[in-house]
Amino acid sequence: MKTFDTVNALREAVIAAHAKGQTIGLVPTMGALHAGHASLVRRSVSENDVTVVSVFVNPTQFNNPTDLETYPRDLEADKRLLESLGVQYVFAPTVEEAYPEPDIRQFSYPPIDTVMEGARRPCHFRGGGQVVGELVMWCVPTRAYFGEKDFQQIAVVRAMVRDLGFDLELVPCPIQREESGLALSSRNALLTAEERQIAVKISRVLQESKTWGIGVEETQQRVVNEINKIDQLEVEYYEIVDGTTLQPVTEWREDVVGCITVYCGQRPVRLIDNVRYA
Ligand code: AMP
Repeated sequence: MKTFDTVNALREAVIAAHAKGQTIGLVPTMGALHAGHASLVRRSVSENDVTVVSVFVNPTQFNNPTDLETYPRDLEADKRLLESLGVQYVFAPTVEEAYPEPDIRQFSYPPIDTVMEGARRPCHFRGGGQVVGELVMWCVPTRAYFGEKDFQQIAVVRAMVRDLGFDLELVPCPIQREESGLALSSRNALLTAEERQIAVKISRVLQESKTWGIGVEETQQRVVNEINKIDQLEVEYYEIVDGTTLQPVTEWREDVVGCITVYCGQRPVRLIDNVRYA
């Protein structure tokens, strides 16, 4: 496995792979890797000749400087994991390498990116689009892998791929969870042991909500109430939306997903999760 910190070195390796007719899988990450990331990487390794994993905490998608500062980082541990998974190339650039100039490109896909995360974190998807756009231009991947934990991100990337005519297959991968049900996240490392026990209740309420048999609006309100009743949890939003357009639905039908963001604990840590209703 080789690790590159310059775009040129990455481009050279990628051009050589393309010249040999090899397929390339791209897995964009922000590092602090866990079994959720590993599931994407395993899939890419099994489906492509070459897998490129980027490890880059992208500043342009953070709207909160403290969140960016405290984001967990451990490149050496990440490299050990990626090597054990059979990855060929790790791309871990500095911010200056990724953005030699301030990036003024605008990525905007309303109404998909104006709801939920997009409404609360104004630069999040523009920043995400910038970095995914760069990675795709540099790697020209055959396939790119994204986790359904970031449900809205997949929809935004899908819109971007279509808009820019990127010739790649977007591969959504299911959410990986702890046995307790807690969705794996790099941010879980910021939780105390006690907060982790509390955070488990988020997925528990979401799962239970599938059995309530009440209307959409009532379900949405009850999820918020049940979670807010729990000490140290505070819902930022819970929206029940169409799984493709991400617009709110008012009645149960096919392809409906509930997306939640919850603040947990003293720090607090911002956690996201989602549940598919049908
Ligand atoms: P991040 O490092 O948080 O930007 O995540 C990189 C990729 O891993 C994104 O496509 C995420 O959706 C995906 N990912 C993160 N956590 C999980 C998880 N628990 N299960 C599946 N995919 C995940």
